[in-house]
Amino acid sequence: MAFIKGLKCRECGREYPGDALNVCDFCFGPLEVIYDYVTISEVISHERIAEGPLSIWRYQDLLPAEADDPVDIMAGYTPLMKARNLGKRLGLNNLYIKNDSVNPSFSFKDRVVSVAATKAVEFGYETLACASTGNLACSVAAHAARAGVDAVVFIPADLERGKVIGAAVYNPTLVAVEGTYDEVNRLCSEVSDNYHWAFVNINMRPYYAEGSKTLGYEVAEQLGWRVPDHVVVPSASGAMFTKIWKGFNELACLGLLDGVDPLPFGADQNTVHHPAVTTRMHMAQAAGCSPIVSAWENHRNQIRPVRPDSIAKSLAIGNPADGIYALRVIRESEGSGYAVPENQVVEGIKLLAETEGVFTETAGGVTVSTLKYLAETGAIGPDELTVAYITGNGLKTQEAVEEVVNPLLVKPMMGSFEAALESRMASAGV
Ligand SMILES: *Cc1c(COP(=O)(O)O)cnc(C)c1O
Ligand SMILES: [Zn+2]
Repeated sequence: MAFIKGLKCRECGREYPGDALNVCDFCFGPLEVIYDYVTISEVISHERIAEGPLSIWRYQDLLPAEADDPVDIMAGYTPLMKARNLGKRLGLNNLYIKNDSVNPSFSFKDRVVSVAATKAVEFGYETLACASTGNLACSVAAHAARAGVDAVVFIPADLERGKVIGAAVYNPTLVAVEGTYDEVNRLCSEVSDNYHWAFVNINMRPYYAEGSKTLGYEVAEQLGWRVPDHVVVPSASGAMFTKIWKGFNELACLGLLDGVDPLPFGADQNTVHHPAVTTRMHMAQAAGCSPIVSAWENHRNQIRPVRPDSIAKSLAIGNPADGIYALRVIRESEGSGYAVPENQVVEGIKLLAETEGVFTETAGGVTVSTLKYLAETGAIGPDELTVAYITGNGLKTQEAVEEVVNPLLVKPMMGSFEAALESRMASAGV
């Protein structure tokens, strides 16, 4: 039983039934899922959530799928780790890492795809498809396998090997397009007009995007039903950024945050009042593709598309679909954005690995370097509760960190080992 009321245009407010639609017929604005929050508030509780499955589906009351049997490879319920070592390095005493790199297909995309795939099956689609910067292809192929439907995944041809293999292993039709993600996406929009396929991030997009709200719910639940003072979130399309914010605000309005009285819903009862929380939303992008952050830095209300040239391929969307909405969230939450210099991305990966034992991909390097910048500039105070979202796994972008491989090469003899160890220690100045 889901409490979805339908879809609503984010621009003109026109309402639509909960079908496989993603743009408004009248103004071409994007559609968003709306809910019957009054009914949700009557049934939802901490106890009911706690009794749910150990996946994103524990928050089913706040997700748009009607299915009793979701397409579930157990996305979500990932660790929230207190990051004492990294915190000490950065002067932050209350720092947590949300480690979403350990999802079933090794990125947060499993959250959004699980919701989109469930909706696609509900609508009767027999093919799941996507335009991907990499991780999405892996997740769509995995969920299609689980659902027993076909998968067609489109990727830029120059993707990292770990992502190509990480998608291909589930045996989808893999389409490598000679172009940027934005060109892949344009092609897919055309394809979706001609083929009856469920493109998770095109015609399923309103449902798909809702899956990211669980990144907000889960962190709040893991903190004992509190929201952080600051979050640091990597952005490509900007969708996840807006949905973490939506998730926090929903919890506040539904009275699910500890010690916070429920707030009135919007006048129509199917939007939530916001800002209902004081969390500051900080966006992390890489300098080689930072259209949203640069709009924020330059006080513009529009996003100027860019041609990506970045090591952080999973974030390389030059014309972000949710860019303006993400920009509004930065402003509404009194957050900020940072464009990480390209040569600091790998530094961020190594810093997290060496301090906390978590190996993230390039998007995570962008997040950690942004966190470092925010700590150093005083934007985050030493005792403020801060969560950095680590959204993808380092084993998928091994090319980026090959420089770390520098073993002691020895013969299988004690003398050889000792000589090698001594010379290494001498060169390290120990
Ligand atoms: C897709 C992706 C993002 C960005 O998500 P958006 O919702 O498009 O902003 C961040 N991190 C990783 C690892 C991703 O794969
Ligand atoms: Zn409209």
